Amino acid sequence: MAQVTPLDRVAVITLDGLSGSGKSTLAKQLAVALNWSYIDSGAWYRALTWAVLQNGLAVDDSTQVLQVLSQIELTSDSDGMVVVDKQSLRDELRTQLIDKNVSAVADHFDVRDALNEKMRGLLAIENVKGVVADGRDAGTIIFANAPLKVFVEVPLEVRAQRRFEQQRKLDSDVTLTQVQHALSQRDSHDAHRGSAAPHPTDESYILDNSNQSVEQAVGRLLTWHQQIFAAK
Ligand code: C5P
Repeated sequence: MAQVTPLDRVAVITLDGLSGSGKSTLAKQLAVALNWSYIDSGAWYRALTWAVLQNGLAVDDSTQVLQVLSQIELTSDSDGMVVVDKQSLRDELRTQLIDKNVSAVADHFDVRDALNEKMRGLLAIENVKGVVADGRDAGTIIFANAPLKVFVEVPLEVRAQRRFEQQRKLDSDVTLTQVQHALSQRDSHDAHRGSAAPHPTDESYILDNSNQSVEQAVGRLLTWHQQIFAAK
């Protein structure tokens, strides 16, 4: 008899895109609307970075990063909040220190493989019926068999303007040029991560998220969900 794997039992939708495309906001709201779990893969990279720094180890040394990963209990709750050794992390993951170091952790391919396995493990949790996962390679690598893959697109200028409006509430000195420059650097760093670089697959649905409200975008995602999963 063919073995039923968690991916056969658990429905998965992935949303990938560049920094500031709004994919996390959409993924979170979609998960709420469907009453599914949410995995924020970027937050997993941030949490591992946090743990490496807490241990005083080097983010650019993959052996040290893997050592930390093997020693901590890393998981997430159904709202997508990452939990390290039973401590839920939120604000700790959004500091400039983590922003500065997370790319080095995400650049190690052996670390990516190990982290991906842990994320896939969440599908095996008994009461999980569906998962919405977002990131850069959620649909291409982490959940490559997901029945519905979405790639969220927004031009750099629009992403920069949105980030600038968020950031100037916290820092009145920040300029639009600085924000746009930082985003464009992150885009270029992400683009050089080989197969894990953000890109749509042949089967991806492209969501243009530049000109619509969150409600409209989630409505579109729910329509695609109906089309794909009702047909199964
Ligand atoms: O999305 P967020 O900004 O929180 O991601 C944090 C970092 O993790 C980014 O540097 C991004 O490149 C990396 N990342 C990744 N693969 C993912 C999700 C995030 O390399 N699937």
